[in-house]
Amino acid sequence: MRISKDQARRRLRDCGLRVTAPRVTVLGILAEAEGPLSFSQVLERLGGAEWDQATIYRNLVKLREVGLAPVVSRVDGIDRYAFALDPDDGHRHPHFLCEDCGRVACLKEDLTAALSIDGPWAESVRGAMVQLRGHCPDCLAHPGV
Ligand SMILES: [Zn+2]
Ligand SMILES: [Zn+2]
Repeated sequence: MRISKDQARRRLRDCGLRVTAPRVTVLGILAEAEGPLSFSQVLERLGGAEWDQATIYRNLVKLREVGLAPVVSRVDGIDRYAFALDPDDGHRHPHFLCEDCGRVACLKEDLTAALSIDGPWAESVRGAMVQLRGHCPDCLAHPGV
């Protein structure tokens, strides 16, 4: 999903954050990514941007705090951040780690719907962190590349 700079600015304002260039950029990177990204993957995608790592990290934490960039995967002890459409978008689907190329992907199936949680807990669930592992479709299609 691509979001425009205007959309990113609006999301920041809606969540009560000051609009700054690093925040707009980091949000754009997360939104565009095909799956959750670790801090170092965000840095890689920044390319030639002039901000230092500490600035980016601080902003990532800020975005997480307001629910715009929840940590949706902690596989192998690495926090991976995803873009959330709204604070209720807790990526309630499984995430898939490819053991070949290392990518983490969002699968579409809503886990909490599949679990059909009833009773007082039904309204409580805001996120899910289920991690599946295996070989992603790309790696299956091109074994040994
Ligand atoms: Zn793969
Ligand atoms: Zn996801």
